[in-house]
Amino acid sequence: MATYFGAIADDLTGATDLAGLLARSGVPVSLRMGVPDGPPVDAAAIEIIALKCRTEPVADAVAETCAALAWLRRAGAQRFFWKYCSTFDSTPQGNIGPVAQALMADLGAYQTIYCPAFPENGRSIFMGNLFVGEQPLAESPMKDHPLTPMRDSNLMRLLAPQVTGAVGLANRLVVAKGTAALAARLAELRAQGIAHVVVDAVSNDDLSVIAEACQDMALMTGGSAVAMPLPALWAAQGLVARREGAAFARVDGHAVLLSGSCSAMTNRQVAAALAAGRPAFRLDPLELAERGAGPALDWLAAQDMAATPLLYATAEPVAVRAAQDRLGKDCAGKLVEDALAACAVLARDQGARRFVVAGGETSGAVAKALGIKRLDIGPEIAAGVPWCFAQSGGQDVAITLKSGNFGAETFFADALERLA
Ligand code: ADP
Repeated sequence: MATYFGAIADDLTGATDLAGLLARSGVPVSLRMGVPDGPPVDAAAIEIIALKCRTEPVADAVAETCAALAWLRRAGAQRFFWKYCSTFDSTPQGNIGPVAQALMADLGAYQTIYCPAFPENGRSIFMGNLFVGEQPLAESPMKDHPLTPMRDSNLMRLLAPQVTGAVGLANRLVVAKGTAALAARLAELRAQGIAHVVVDAVSNDDLSVIAEACQDMALMTGGSAVAMPLPALWAAQGLVARREGAAFARVDGHAVLLSGSCSAMTNRQVAAALAAGRPAFRLDPLELAERGAGPALDWLAAQDMAATPLLYATAEPVAVRAAQDRLGKDCAGKLVEDALAACAVLARDQGARRFVVAGGETSGAVAKALGIKRLDIGPEIAAGVPWCFAQSGGQDVAITLKSGNFGAETFFADALERLA
């Protein structure tokens, strides 16, 4: 069966988040890191292309996403999804709106929806306003994001400067009435010439209504959760097929834990792993600047891999700021990413076949160093964090890529247990 659903994500852990939710359906999901060089080979029913274009210049983001769209169409995809962050990470310039518009133009689509809601992770939309837990987006920690500070909670106002033409709303009162009411509201807006529609959602039931009403749109856009119900709808119509037989191949071999995220949740997860007595090495950017990755690699080389060592740069905000002040933000980040990537390669050479990686940028660096180009999506560890299967250095490996705030406090142990 050819590909039916093609999705494009604006960053890697966003792509694995989407992949994990779609794979809950049992339909095979494959994730490519960047637009593949060659034509589609061995394409799955659901193909996701992970880009790194959230904060790129608009023209570059548009060019890359359109190239990804062209590849997905060659793979046979007939329905498309533009995945961005559930906190709508963007600026007045983009890239959410401009990319959506460019994809619509390529596809000849006359209307799309914008629904970043992810109720299981506390992101909900009511009357066009996005909430993070109980806080409006603009009062959440996202207001201080270094690249995409979110200073408004109203999605229509956030989207308006990013697109041409008016932005409409299908609100919760409509969604609560069900699929037919939502479809009628979308048709009404379309009759008014409104191509860009924000859709409210506060629960998974709302997302089911939205998915059902929008399943025939050429392009939907949003966070990962609104796409979650789609595969089951299509499977029921015979448009995609569920995976047959035993789900996944076993990946035996040692495991290694690598953490470069400094989010509040990752700090708690690393603390829990340390409290559990795991052998651990802390990477400090200041020391990396002085002595390089040698000490971390020497430490790892001396470890018994059967004990599942942890290497982490995860630190509290004060320490992160101190390192950034001394080295510059980009330099500190790169030192850590490069060091953890080198540790991943050494761990593989020492027999590690299961990799648990925390941090979006960190994940990209580690996956790249391991030479991973494609991931087959396996079982979920936590909402939006699946195990993935891949090839690295001629070996079958399992890898999980966790973005900062995802997972429970026991995430590292949960991940190992899920594959046991
Ligand atoms: P998240 O998903 O939590 O945003 P990322 O890996 O995307 O995690 O981003 C964290 C960034 O912080 C990375 O570039 C990483 O290299 C950098 N970093 C990690 N530890 C430190 C530290 N102790 N000091 C400064 N920067 C750090």
